[in-house]
Amino acid sequence: MQTSLADFIRDSAEGREADAILRMCVHCGFCTATCPTYQVLGDDLDSPRGRIYLIKRALEGAPVTGRTRLHLDRCLTCRACETTCPSGVRYGRLVDIGRAVVEARTTRPLWQRLWRALLAFALPRPALFGAAVKLGRLFPVKKLPPLHAAGAWPAPRHARKMLVLAGCVQPALAPSINAAAARVLDRLGISLVEAPAAGCCGGIRFHLNEQDAGRDDMRALIDAWWPMVESGEVEAIVITASGCGVTVKEYGYLLAQDPQYAEKAARISAMAKDLCEVLDEKTLPAARGSERVAFQSPCTLQHGQQLRGKVEALLVRVGYELAPVEDSHLCCGSAGTYSLLQPAISGELRTRKLAALQKAGPQAIATANIGCLAHLQAGAGVPVRHWIELVERKMPA
Ligand code: SF4
Ligand code: SF4
Repeated sequence: MQTSLADFIRDSAEGREADAILRMCVHCGFCTATCPTYQVLGDDLDSPRGRIYLIKRALEGAPVTGRTRLHLDRCLTCRACETTCPSGVRYGRLVDIGRAVVEARTTRPLWQRLWRALLAFALPRPALFGAAVKLGRLFPVKKLPPLHAAGAWPAPRHARKMLVLAGCVQPALAPSINAAAARVLDRLGISLVEAPAAGCCGGIRFHLNEQDAGRDDMRALIDAWWPMVESGEVEAIVITASGCGVTVKEYGYLLAQDPQYAEKAARISAMAKDLCEVLDEKTLPAARGSERVAFQSPCTLQHGQQLRGKVEALLVRVGYELAPVEDSHLCCGSAGTYSLLQPAISGELRTRKLAALQKAGPQAIATANIGCLAHLQAGAGVPVRHWIELVERKMPA
């Protein structure tokens, strides 16, 4: 694609990167077939190809309006288009750059600004979010998944130690996930530890288009982890929510222009692993069983981290029968704060996803991300759990 970026961005790092990405797009449209918003809305401007065109025009200095922003807002950042694209267009990076430019050049209505500010303030603060969830549990709030007891967290006893990200919303919504991961890894000879004062990975504020604030959260998390990383005490950083995992794996890129943090960020990203990457299937007890489970592979796992088939293999290894799931590459509509900002599209995608997941009559749905878990549970007819909790159930006592 021919480009002619405007003076305001041409010579910046973002401009050079966006230009290189735009030039790779040959406008073939293959990506539209796997774009969830194009499938729901049928408008080319709600497809990757259309959004790439809108971003190109914005970076070339064409006027941008609320309509431009709306089409970018409707993008789930699921990155299914990246997996599909034969030319290797890194759409996720391009849309971050485009969104920042469009945000700066348009003004949102007051209600949108207030709603987004509230989410950006409350979600990344575990204490505040935890208090809100406790309050919400006093009432029948459908959006909250049932609370399962965390159980004991084994004391560190092994020479092999890994850090685990507690996260911002997961401790309040599902404290059982990291505790189950700690117990499974403990049995395999690895102690899982959390760092005091570690907070949000930065993904929430970054994807609410508060990119500078998101980077502040990333730096704060690096500071919290750094003593244990620098001392060599931990061999990896384990992340049990694939949405946070994809963000931490991109710290090296997202902080590359920060001279104080670039090196540390790259090291943190290199150490970051989704939980399914540190569990070797062969170390789990093999079993056969008849309990049928449908696995919902979050976009941040299969497209963002390009991890496909690993969780499924672990579930089969410990004795679950995997239910077939049609269109498993499509987003469930959760997408971070998307379900709160674009409820109609998000709700339609959840309905479609749940129909696909429940078609073969599974007894449970497994997932790898807390956002998807809460979003799906609100409409599912069967329990939705993190896959590590299902794996733990099959481990001998
Ligand atoms: S992003 Fe890739 S698949 Fe989509 S139009 Fe461009 S080149 Fe084609
Ligand atoms: S990231 Fe997802 S929603 Fe956005 S354009 Fe790509 S496929 Fe469509």
